[in-house]
Amino acid sequence: MQVYLVGGAVRDELLGLPAHERDWVVVGSTPEELQRGGYRAVGREFPVFLHPDTGEEYALARLERKTGPGYRGFETRFSPEVTLEQDLQRRDLTINAMARSPDGRLIDPYGGRHDLEQRLLRHVSPAFVEDPVRVLRVARFAARLCALGFRLAPETRELMRFMVSSGEINALVPERVWREMQRALGEADPAVFLDILEDCGALAILLPELNWDEAARKALQRAAAPALATTEVPAAARVSAAARVSAAHSAIDGSVRFAALLAGTALERITALCERLRVPNDYRELALLTARLQPRIAHAGTLDAAATLELLEAADAFRRPDRFQLLLRAALARSDLDDAARTARAAALAAALAAAAAVALPHDQLTQLNGPAIAATYRSARLERLEALQSELRKS
Ligand code: ATP
Ligand code: MG
Repeated sequence: MQVYLVGGAVRDELLGLPAHERDWVVVGSTPEELQRGGYRAVGREFPVFLHPDTGEEYALARLERKTGPGYRGFETRFSPEVTLEQDLQRRDLTINAMARSPDGRLIDPYGGRHDLEQRLLRHVSPAFVEDPVRVLRVARFAARLCALGFRLAPETRELMRFMVSSGEINALVPERVWREMQRALGEADPAVFLDILEDCGALAILLPELNWDEAARKALQRAAAPALATTEVPAAARVSAAARVSAAHSAIDGSVRFAALLAGTALERITALCERLRVPNDYRELALLTARLQPRIAHAGTLDAAATLELLEAADAFRRPDRFQLLLRAALARSDLDDAARTARAAALAAALAAAAAVALPHDQLTQLNGPAIAATYRSARLERLEALQSELRKS
């Protein structure tokens, strides 16, 4: 049997990006032979195995044939006779359809290296249209790689439009749309994902609740800008496009981007979208809170002490200070303020929260009060703190 490195690892190495996972293809073997070698079978629909020591994925070379609509409508055939070239042909993009042999040779039957140098995202074969997930994948790769100059090949763009007009796109299940969208939110330029879906007509079908306009695009771009995400992206990453592309974004970042994207959308639409795609709770809650409080946060500079306290309470900031930070980032990304003004607003609200949260009532006072009275006492003590803070700021 022969084993080849394939897919993303070969592509990323040629692009000079750090490898994050390695996938392998096995030619001329059988499931029995791999299992005898200690590989563990994991694929339900395809013959995929995990290496006994490294845990990396090894897939038997396979052919795919379309038998029905959607990405489940596939029949896969594998046998020791299936060649590496045949396995590479069923892949989505030419830059993902290269392999590296054990002696270091590049196997590139579909011009992946040329397209990589030309910075083109191009489909491998006309069979591209058989799997609607590829529309999402291509949009996601564009969001990742456009910082390096990649763009969509015109003929691939045409195929994607055809997949929408022919109705193939309707076979996508909500879980898969969310999974790709969540990943796309973590890429270097998440707005490109939505632009590409809009261009081929898929956006209106897949995310009809979304209000994808100039304000939403700007908000998403600002939320994804390294300057705003200073806690996750190291300073050095801001200078190089390659570093930006390879920076792994956390789920926290993804939820901020999601919330910034939806900040101008009606609450019922956000709820409908989240229910339909089964978006996780933390994403949904932050998006709803951001859409609700964004106007007040953007005008934080003009709020008096009482309005500031109301905002902190509405945001549940005393109990959820970490989420409050995320809320500020998402809401301010949506505002038209410049970077300095956004930083100043965030700092002012963080200072207000710190001051109000530092209020502590004496123990003997608390023991004499019932629940509502405790809340009211806290409230007026916090208000006093915020008033003091504001008059201090006015003086300085
Ligand atoms: P990443 O860096 O995100 O892991 P990747 O290219 O390795 O990118 P994977 O999702 O890990 O992407 O898939 C591995 C390889 O399998 C791809 O490079 C591609 O060749 C192929 N592939 C995955 N999904 C599809 C699909 N839906 N249609 C065709 N080929 C696919
Ligand atoms: Mg991969």
